[in-house]
Amino acid sequence: MRDNRVMAEPTTPTRDPRLDAACADAAPLARQHLVDTVGEDVVGDHLAIRREGERLATHVFASTQPGYRGWTWSVTVARASRQRTVTVCEVVLLPGDEAIVAPSWTPYKERVRPGDLGPGDLLPPEADDARLVPGFTAGDPATEPLVDPSTVRSVADEVGMGRAWVLSLEGRDLAAERWHEGEQGPDVPLAQQAPGKCSDCGFTVRLAGPLGLEFGVCANGMANDDGRVVALDHGCGAHSDAKLSRSSGPVPLPPPVIDTIAVDTLEV
Ligand code: SF4
Repeated sequence: MRDNRVMAEPTTPTRDPRLDAACADAAPLARQHLVDTVGEDVVGDHLAIRREGERLATHVFASTQPGYRGWTWSVTVARASRQRTVTVCEVVLLPGDEAIVAPSWTPYKERVRPGDLGPGDLLPPEADDARLVPGFTAGDPATEPLVDPSTVRSVADEVGMGRAWVLSLEGRDLAAERWHEGEQGPDVPLAQQAPGKCSDCGFTVRLAGPLGLEFGVCANGMANDDGRVVALDHGCGAHSDAKLSRSSGPVPLPPPVIDTIAVDTLEV
């Protein structure tokens, strides 16, 4: 059965003056092909003509397909050089601005968040990870080497002490920033109400190297941060100098009362 709306064409959206006239006038052909392909129940009004190239245009129709609100049918037509006949290239259903579409694809490696790794999972660093530098540079180009780095590397390899990669200055700065701003930093309520700082706590184990100037490891099994890197200006109520105030100590008992009325039997 022929679609009456085909006979009612052409619709006249604003036309690009560079549009090929035959392609632009092919809205009835485009609609007919669309109806033959997807059925007339899901084809709505002709909405636009879009120039795709020389003798190439796309006719856009509204979609009335349930569940596809905001989507449009695009029927691309073309006319070969020195030909009068226009032919249909393709029919596709495309999302418009109001269409509900799936979120854009995010590569798996960008979805991993700190703490996501499980037993057996692998998360190798990127080849150009700025947090790492080759081990023979010792990770600190600011430090003037006392001997040739290649000599250091070969000696370290020989005695089995060499590491292929070490933390770069950038990696160290990022770690320091992260630790300082995290739950073991100085700004959390636990630290702000603490009786003292980790810097003078007997449970702090100092770190070696430059990070030791600002951080240590808490070794108090009763503290929330036991086994974690803590900023030296962090602190908690389990500080080694913490003392209970008088009001929080045991309540003193009243003096004993001697019963002068009854007779008490005492075992001798
Ligand atoms: S017990 Fe508290 S104050 Fe002491 S090192 Fe651990 S976190 Fe810091």
